[in-house]
Formats: sequence, structure tokens, C-alpha cells
Amino acid sequence: VGSGKMFLPQVVKSARVMKKAVAWLQPYIEASKNGGAKSAGKILMATVKGDVHDIGKNIVSVVLGCNNYEIIDLGVMVPADKIIETAKAENVDIIGLSGLITPSLEEMIHVASELERQNMKLPLLIGGATTSRVHTAVKVEENYPSGSTIHINDASLSVPVVGQLLSAHKVGFIDEKKEEYQKVRESYKRKKNQKTLISIEQAKSNAVRLDWNNSKISPSSFYGVKVIDSISVEELIPFIDWTPFFFTWEIKGQYPKVLENPVNGEHARSLFDDALAMLEMIKEEKTLFGRAVVGIWRANSDGDDVVVQNEKGEEVDRFVMMRQQLKKKDGEGYYSLADFIAPKESGLEDSIGGFVVSIQGKLEEKLKEYALEHDDYKSIMLKAIADRLAEALAEYMHQKVRKEIWGYAKEEDLDNLGLISEKYQGIRPAPGYPACPDHTEKTTLFNLLDAEKAINVSLTETLSMYPAASVSGWYFANPEARYFGINKIGEDQLIDLSNRKRVSIDKVRPGLAYMIQAKS
Ligand code: SAH
Repeated sequence: VGSGKMFLPQVVKSARVMKKAVAWLQPYIEASKNGGAKSAGKILMATVKGDVHDIGKNIVSVVLGCNNYEIIDLGVMVPADKIIETAKAENVDIIGLSGLITPSLEEMIHVASELERQNMKLPLLIGGATTSRVHTAVKVEENYPSGSTIHINDASLSVPVVGQLLSAHKVGFIDEKKEEYQKVRESYKRKKNQKTLISIEQAKSNAVRLDWNNSKISPSSFYGVKVIDSISVEELIPFIDWTPFFFTWEIKGQYPKVLENPVNGEHARSLFDDALAMLEMIKEEKTLFGRAVVGIWRANSDGDDVVVQNEKGEEVDRFVMMRQQLKKKDGEGYYSLADFIAPKESGLEDSIGGFVVSIQGKLEEKLKEYALEHDDYKSIMLKAIADRLAEALAEYMHQKVRKEIWGYAKEEDLDNLGLISEKYQGIRPAPGYPACPDHTEKTTLFNLLDAEKAINVSLTETLSMYPAASVSGWYFANPEARYFGINKIGEDQLIDLSNRKRVSIDKVRPGLAYMIQAKS
């Protein structure tokens, strides 16, 4: 299992046999008073404060557990204090931090600084979807010089890295890593200086301008907020995009081709069979169902804001959008999502939509059941399927909006592949993603939709959606609307955002810190 080449589903599946056996033997092991086999080391695992995502962390925990490490799993949304207190009280050997959303990147820096401040020396592992070796090297490691900070984004690599960190040769390994990260920092700083930002004012005056005279505006056949509840899993299954499911289990390849892959096809097929069996159970026992709230509002852009209006044309609220600042070739426009909504001056009455969708039901009950059975495989599988269903629900609702509720594409006729490759008119950008990395806009969106009351989805302090199997975003109907990345921004955009949002700069900075580039 220790080699880099392992198939996670198989490892996690075999873990349940082992765990059940250990649970069964436990009374005898204790009775024999020698405490049983000694663990290879104690590892504390936690998803950081404000973040509710734990699939990756749980997979790593199981894999390490299979390799005789004792895991202390503090779960999700764990504050720095609790991590450090537990690490001390339990005398752990390593701390592993996980997080999925971008604000967690800042929280990880905070944990590292706290470890340093409290004179800790323990190795720190960093993992999760938005983390990277560059972020770990440039932003995290330097705050914790007394320890060793290592990025691991591949559960199968966690075993050799942890093995090295706890081995007799750890000094050599740690020095090597420190050197490697030093090089990453130097190269990052060199590259950083090559990237030029223009000022936010310049970017605004070089905004992308659609030709509003000839632009297709699609009035909605419905305005207001609509709740669609109790959507059955059966209805969602045809909308599932399975490729990310295999990715979660670190089986690379596109579905359905991956099932025939000579290297991992067999593992992919067996994993897929297990997923389908669980979906059958979910259908039969009605374990899960979908809930959605969508809104469509009259809207115009005002600079980089999208002004949401009531039927009288009065302002109700504003979505404060960001804009690209990385210097482009002359004549190329700088994108903001606001550019896809007709400006007031055009005299056109445009619209914007918003949505929150969520998979709910007896998820927690099922997870408790699996925990009692020591069945990590099923527990991770259920969460991964709930995530897939949430994305499928987003796809399902988006189609319903295009064809019925907004109704600008009544004739659309796309199959699963057409939907997954987004062959439809319009986009549904999600706050926190590259075109709109500012998570705090979710607050406005959730307020306008009254999402917490409508479908019981709430936001954590760092704007993670709870329950985790939830998706939110905006609907843009314009045929020219497309996804892009904001990438780096300057301090000036941060000031601009805080002015337009009428909040202090400290409220916007933490979630965007990872993309701010100092003046070069
Ligand atoms: N079929 C995929 C859908 C999720 S990824 C799945 O099941 O996982 C695609 C979604 O991510 C888009 O619908 C949009 O909501 C978001 N997204 C992708 N690129 C984006 C960007 N550049 N800016 C904002 N949102 C983006």
C-alpha cells in the first residue's frame, strides 16, 4: 500500500474489513494489557474554520489509518485553537489541515502562524482542492519556520510523506523539502514580477463592451423568487456528470471512457458499480432529495455593479462584481460579469437570475449508521454522491430556468454530454470561482433569495455553504456571456470593492488575499 501506485477505492474498501476486525478484537486487545500493536504515529486531521468539506480529508485519514497510523479526526470547521490544543493534549506527531474553498487558504496561514507563536515544531501537512505547492511555499511555510510544512494533494502520496516525516532520516527529508520550497518561492517571485497589472480605473475604462444595439436581451416570463422542493433523485440521475466523481477517488480519466481504461478501468468499473448500487438504495429508501430556490430579477449594470430592480424599476440591491486587471494586448477588453448585463444608459431592460440548490434528507442519519458499522467507504461514497447530485441539480435547475421559468431557450434539446459541456445559451457563474472569486457576494444572493428560510442552506463565517452538498450562483442569459478568470488583482481593486460594497476593507481582504499582487 505504501507505494505511490494504489487504487484508493480498493484501499478504503479494504479498510472497513480491517476496522471491523479491530473493533471486534478491541476488548481482547485491552484485556491483554499490552495495548496491542503500537501505532506508527499519531496524526491530527482537521478541516479548517469556516469550511465544511471533508471528503478528501476523510480519504487521506482512511489511507493513513490502513498504514497503522492513529488518526485523531476533529471533523470540519475546526478553529486554530482547538487544533493546537488537541495536538498538545494528544501529543500528536503530525497535523494535517484540509480545506476546499479559497478563504480556507488564509485560515491555513493563520494556523501556521499560531503554531509558530506557540513554539510548536510539529510537521504540518496542507491539502485540499484550492491548495497548491506554490501557496504552501509562498504563503504558509514562511509563517512557520520552526516546523516543516508540506503540501500533499494526493491521498496516495500521504503515506510516503508521513513515513519520511516520522523516519530516522527525517532531517534529510525536511531539509530537502525546505530547499525545494525555497526554490518555488524564488521562481514565484521572479514570475510575479513579469506579470503587470493595470489600475482598476484603467481596467474599467477598457471594459468589454457588447454591442447593445444588436444584442439579444431575453426578458423573463417570470420575475421574483420561486422555491422548487422535493425534487426526486430519479429526476437528477440523467444530469450527473460522473467524471469529477472518479476524480474524487483519484481515478483519472473521462467518464465513460475511464471504465474501459486498460490501467484503471477495472477499478473504475467496480467503483461505479458501488456508486450505482448506492444510488439504488437512495432511490428506494428516499434517503435524499433536492431543494432549489431561484430568483429572476430585472437588472442593469452600473459600472461593475449589477443593480437588481423591482417591477417599478427601483433599486433593490446590488451585486458587486470584480474585474480583470492583468495587462493584456492593446485593444483586448478586461472582463467583469457586469459587462454581460445591459447598462442603464442602453435604455434596455435586462435581467439576472440567482439560485441556491441543495441535496438534503437523511444524510446525517445514514452517515451515523455507517460510522457505527466502521464503514468509511460507504460514508465517503454517500458524500461523494450527494455532491454529484448537487451539481446535477444545478444543471437540472439551470435547464428548467432556460426552458421554462425564464424561458429564453424553450426549443433547447441537449443530452447529458451537451449539458456537461455547456452547449447551452448563458452561464451560471458561482461566487468563489474564477470569474467572481469574492465569496462575500453570496450574502447578497442568499438574502435576495431568502435561501436559509426557503431551503435551509446557510453560510458559515467564511461563506462555505452548509450543508456541503449545495451549489449557488447567478444566471446570465446573454449569448455572449462566458466564463473567464479574474486572476491577480491590485490593492486598488480591494479598496474599490470595499467602497462599492460599503464594508470595511478587512471584510473583503481575507477571502481575496491569495490573489492580491503587491505593486511591482
Ligand atoms: N458538470 C460539473 C459542473 C461544475 S463545474 C460538475 O458536475 O461538477 C462548472 C461550474 O463551475 C459552472 O457551472 C459554474 O458554476 C462554475 N464555474 C466554472 N468556471 C467558472 C468561472 N470561470 N467563473 C465562475 N464560475 C465558474
